[in-house]
Amino acid sequence: MDAANSHDAGAQNAGRRHRVVIIGSGFGGLSAAQALAKSDVDVTLVAKTGHHLFQPLLYQVATGILSVGDIAPSTRLILREHKNITVTLGEVDRIDVAGRMVHAVAGHIDFDLPYDSLIVAAGANQSYFGNDHFERYAPGMKTIDDALELRGRILGSFELAELTEDEDERRRLLTFIVVGAGPTGVEMVGQIGELAHRTLKNSYRRIDPGQARIILIDAAPAVLPPFGERLGRAARARLEQLGVEVHLNAMVTDVDSNGIEVKDSDGTVRRIAAACKIWSAGVQASPLGKMLADQTEAEVDRAGRVLVNKDLSLPGHPEIFVLGDMMSLDNLPGVSPVAIQGGKYVARQIDREVEGQQSPSERPPFKYFDKGSMATVSRYSAVVKIGRVELHGFIAWVMWLLVHLAFLIGFRNRLAALFSWGMHILGDKRSHLSATSRFVYGRRALDRVYGGSIASSLDENAPGS
Ligand SMILES: Cc1cc2nc3c(=O)[nH]c(=O)nc-3n(C[C@H](O)[C@H](O)[C@H](O)COP(=O)(O)OP(=O)(O)OC[C@H]3O[C@@H](n4cnc5c(N)ncnc54)[C@H](O)[C@@H]3O)c2cc1C
Repeated sequence: MDAANSHDAGAQNAGRRHRVVIIGSGFGGLSAAQALAKSDVDVTLVAKTGHHLFQPLLYQVATGILSVGDIAPSTRLILREHKNITVTLGEVDRIDVAGRMVHAVAGHIDFDLPYDSLIVAAGANQSYFGNDHFERYAPGMKTIDDALELRGRILGSFELAELTEDEDERRRLLTFIVVGAGPTGVEMVGQIGELAHRTLKNSYRRIDPGQARIILIDAAPAVLPPFGERLGRAARARLEQLGVEVHLNAMVTDVDSNGIEVKDSDGTVRRIAAACKIWSAGVQASPLGKMLADQTEAEVDRAGRVLVNKDLSLPGHPEIFVLGDMMSLDNLPGVSPVAIQGGKYVARQIDREVEGQQSPSERPPFKYFDKGSMATVSRYSAVVKIGRVELHGFIAWVMWLLVHLAFLIGFRNRLAALFSWGMHILGDKRSHLSATSRFVYGRRALDRVYGGSIASSLDENAPGS
């Protein structure tokens, strides 16, 4: 294969190494970078945070089991031994497809990153299905800031319930609603149940945390739909044992500081007064996908995911790959193994092409190997689906524990997580129940600085509003 036929031609003609820019330090971006560590390329990984975030355990940070450091190791430190990789902090706000250039901003500094190959793995954000104003009252859980804010809101609600003299207000403060009965919603609601019934037991003098009303709501007719009917039923039964109310076929139509409005399948509209609301009902891919589609022949679906070719590249642009939660291919789910395997696959294609072993037109299609899915419901209880094998209860929970331990990056992180899990499992202790007012008020303060109305920000009641 000669240089002219390869998308490496630019680098070869200029007498320099092939430049790969990776956007994102999540599962997709990090696995691509690690897989390129021994390749004859220069890699720049740019991400808007300095850490790699293990999102599947965010709910444990929100409920005080794990600390931030346990699930968010520094990307720079993970990659420091790989001399061909440069890690750069920056939020990408422009991609120039024709000029093969990425533009990013970090603080007051902005910069360009030219590329020969571009890997875009910027993930997804929470979706409120066109009701973005819900976010203020019912934050989602995508970032460390979100998890810490939720920790502050959950604990703050118990604290205010202890203080108030008003019975109705106490009931409102002790009502917790999680919207979305997928894995994240189930894990979150299960942990609020454990917190109320076990960890906080006997720690207040005026309220009984066990009296908290904990509600899981979904517009769909089932809990954990991707796990199938049997496991969904088992998860629901376990949640109900924990005292969680499960409201299915219930569409959330409004959210405000006092509570939520729900429309049931028979058309009945009802309000539930609740201080603490958590949203885990949908995702919207990074806007970088639409930015790419606008400059190429690629299309995006309703969730903003880019419809990629079988080799995860964009139509007409073999030099640009989109992976993980940002891509749409063969109905693959938005889960970490899809992103990890995509990252490794893309790195391999780039490596083979730089070595002159194949041209872009010779790439084999990306094949996803589904190793199964799992979600915890509560202490000692999880659901696992591997092909036709369906498990729930204690054995599933042990499998969940081992898999998550194996995938946490770094020996220290594994040890720290193991210690925290041991404390939680054996002694009902949670080591990370601290919350500061910055966790709770941060979002509102940013609203004020960047455009939210000051008047409306000031009059909302704080934790859980
Ligand atoms: C709460 C929660 C629980 C989950 N539980 C599970 C689970 O149990 N099992 C499972 O398999 N999957 C789970 N997932 C899904 C899984 O985390 C995702 O599928 C996976 O993270 C996708 O990887 P990614 O690389 O595409 O994106 P991400 O991991 O989200 O990484 C995106 C990266 O891009 C960066 N970025 C975004 N925009 C920009 C920009 N403009 N400029 C620069 N950088 C940018 C971000 O900072 C981040 O580093 C869960 C997700 C969440 C939110």
